[in-house]
Amino acid sequence: RQGVVVITGASSGLGLAAAKALAETGKWHVVMACRDFLKASKAAKAAGMANGSYTVMHLDLASLDSVRQFVDAFRRAEMPLDVLVCNAAIYRPTARTPTFTADGHEMSVGVNHLGHFLLARLMMEDLQKSDYPSRRLVIVGSITGNVNTLAGNVPPKANLGDLRGLAGGLTGASGSAMIDGDESFDGAKAYKDSKVCNMLTMQEFHRRYHEDTGITFSSLYPGCIATTGLFREHIPLFRTLFPPFQRFVTKGFVSEAESGKRLAQVVGEPSLTKSGVYWSWNKDSASFENQLSQEASDPEKARKVWELSEKLVGLA
Ligand code: NDP
Repeated sequence: RQGVVVITGASSGLGLAAAKALAETGKWHVVMACRDFLKASKAAKAAGMANGSYTVMHLDLASLDSVRQFVDAFRRAEMPLDVLVCNAAIYRPTARTPTFTADGHEMSVGVNHLGHFLLARLMMEDLQKSDYPSRRLVIVGSITGNVNTLAGNVPPKANLGDLRGLAGGLTGASGSAMIDGDESFDGAKAYKDSKVCNMLTMQEFHRRYHEDTGITFSSLYPGCIATTGLFREHIPLFRTLFPPFQRFVTKGFVSEAESGKRLAQVVGEPSLTKSGVYWSWNKDSASFENQLSQEASDPEKARKVWELSEKLVGLA
């Protein structure tokens, strides 16, 4: 049978490109889990995805209620779940004041990490029921966890500190909307911190569930896709100069189509079944197991992030 893959944030960028790449193989039915139903439907059509090869379902990761409603709606649709891809993200690089989710958590960590954490935890039940030969949970990471790259070291660097801000719920009210408890808000750092949480979460899933369930847990850095909507909140000059800078100076540029193929590999390639791995690609577009920074691979921190997140999303 066809595999069923759920991809969050499939209305643009990497998620849309991966949805298209997977649907085109004929081997996958893609569930596009998106906050803007109409935008996602139009994007799928504009990308040339065939009718019947995908289903759009509503999911707003900035609301934990919406996450629960999505899981209910998915179950009512009576599809199996073979692969879940946590891809959606927001990035507010110039923001100096926080915004908040419906549940009162700072938006970058709320959407990129907490919403996905609840979704992935709830949908483990569905993944475990699937009879698909290779079931996977993929959480899209970023370069900020790489120690071996220049871009991973550009300030402000990710730093979760002792997690006191996360423990306080990132409400801003108790002083901090930042995971490390810093009282001043930095949108660029909040995004990087959220991606470190994504990578820690993937590894903690691996430690807690891989042996018992056989499910593959993986993360990836798809390359710098300088043209996606992720940079929509950046200053105009940055948006003009960033793609050519990546293309000609750092040579880290990848097209949306190429990045979509990379994510599609992590979803379905028989050779990428190893669990607990952070995949990256070299200049010739060959995949390899990348190294994570010390913080992004710290098991004690992963356990603490897991436990604090459980409390914030109402699982503990
Ligand atoms: P885009 O902005 O193009 O896509 C992000 C997607 O997330 C959109 O579909 C967006 O929906 C969705 N989204 C945002 N907020 C929510 C929400 N509250 N609920 C549900 N969906 C939401 O960015 P990219 O494609 O570049 O990013 C995809 C992933 O790739 C992210 O995890 C990012 O961290 C990662 N990444 C990107 C890199 C790059 O260079 N671009 C590099 C490394 C990692 P909508 O269309 O409605 O806005």
